[in-house]
Amino acid sequence: MTTTGDRGHSLFDGTGSRLLAAAEVAEVSDDTLERLRLPRSVLKVSIPLRMDDGSLRSVPGYRVRYDDTLGPTKGGVRFHPRVNVDEVQSLAFWMTFKCAALDLPFGGGKGGVTVDSKELSLHELERLARGYIDAIADFIGPDVDVPAPDMYTNAMVMGWMLDQFTTIRRAFTPAVVTGKPIPLGGSYGRETATADGAFHVLSELLPKLAEQGKAKAREDGPTVAIQGFGNAGAQLAELLAGDGYRVVGAADSRVSLYNPDGLDVARLRSEKSENGSLPEEAGERVDPEEFVKLDVDVLVPAALEDVITADNAEEIKARVVLEVANGPTAAEADAILAQQGVTVIPDILANAGGVTVSYFEWAQNKGGVRWTAEDVSERLRDRMVGESENIWELAEDRDVPLRTAAYAQGLERISAAVDATGSAEHYRMPR
Ligand code: NAD
Repeated sequence: MTTTGDRGHSLFDGTGSRLLAAAEVAEVSDDTLERLRLPRSVLKVSIPLRMDDGSLRSVPGYRVRYDDTLGPTKGGVRFHPRVNVDEVQSLAFWMTFKCAALDLPFGGGKGGVTVDSKELSLHELERLARGYIDAIADFIGPDVDVPAPDMYTNAMVMGWMLDQFTTIRRAFTPAVVTGKPIPLGGSYGRETATADGAFHVLSELLPKLAEQGKAKAREDGPTVAIQGFGNAGAQLAELLAGDGYRVVGAADSRVSLYNPDGLDVARLRSEKSENGSLPEEAGERVDPEEFVKLDVDVLVPAALEDVITADNAEEIKARVVLEVANGPTAAEADAILAQQGVTVIPDILANAGGVTVSYFEWAQNKGGVRWTAEDVSERLRDRMVGESENIWELAEDRDVPLRTAAYAQGLERISAAVDATGSAEHYRMPR
């Protein structure tokens, strides 16, 4: 049954409108759209944090489980001053579709703590991470909800969180969080998973786009600009430079660079890790606002949300946008880009390598085994290539953009699972 989804308008602006666009072309039951209208559960906590100077602060924290039809909810924990319940809820909603689009046996969740972690000492940060787990321990677990790192949380923080959960439960439970240090049950390949995944997706889709005249073929040395030179962006820059692409633009929060002859990516990486920012003299300085408008073949936003908006979408010159960041394109910009013939490879596919290797980590922990780096890398490639192909075919068959196709693929998988638990159709059947 195909429905136009005449409910669910209260869903979160951009993400909600994308879901409704997917519902127009997906085989999805009314029950599913109704289930997805509201989050499964939302937990608000306050974390008492003892500061180094002896004072006490109550810090707000959240954990949202949006939908758990396909499995335990999965999603990162963000420590950031702007965190609020609406943001966490939207991110949990997003994770629901990312996991489903990649066929991972997980629902979508997310967590956050409203704090500027840069103002905390390392000891305060550890107490906060442990305090957060104390506050949400009844809400999480390997078969219930599985946190992971996100902005301003990392493997060390996940190590503290696992240790705290283990203390509470009196049982070593590594599958309760992913993105852990390797000695505590982390997976090989997790650190590079997002960049590796994005690379596989682009390698799979660019030839198809080139064949349709919508992109420059890799053999012709496409030019690339990468906004955000952190974990994901810098590693991807290196993979692309090693595969025949010319990285002509690179930006971090301080320096935006352009060099039409190609930037020396290895040098950028080493100077960035030594000095904390890109070397200014490696190319021409570009106004950060103008960076996304550079005349390149492939634009990779790998830093912030909402960098391509209705205000600048008409000026995007790249033919392909590979969304490594979460939400770099505002929903209102989608149609403008499509009109200009710009292909957007959506975040829920392009950056899903991270959650895919998180799934591998969880699966290894549950099975009590450790896979080799080669094994992880091969499984990641297979998954990213396979799901890119599925999404490509769905987009072709139904004549929709890749983003709509990715959401539709996720939605159909969720719908199949919802209906398998008993749908409105079953209840209407004569007995
Ligand atoms: P990171 O903190 O390692 O790096 C972020 C980079 O962005 C830094 O180089 C920073 O200088 C740069 N930056 C910040 N503000 C900028 C600005 N205004 N202009 C240009 N650059 C700016 O983060 P990351 O882990 O690489 O994540 C980057 C993006 O990818 C985020 O949107 C994140 O949600 C998304 N993502 C990351 C992963 C992962 O596993 N790392 C997985 C999925 C999605």
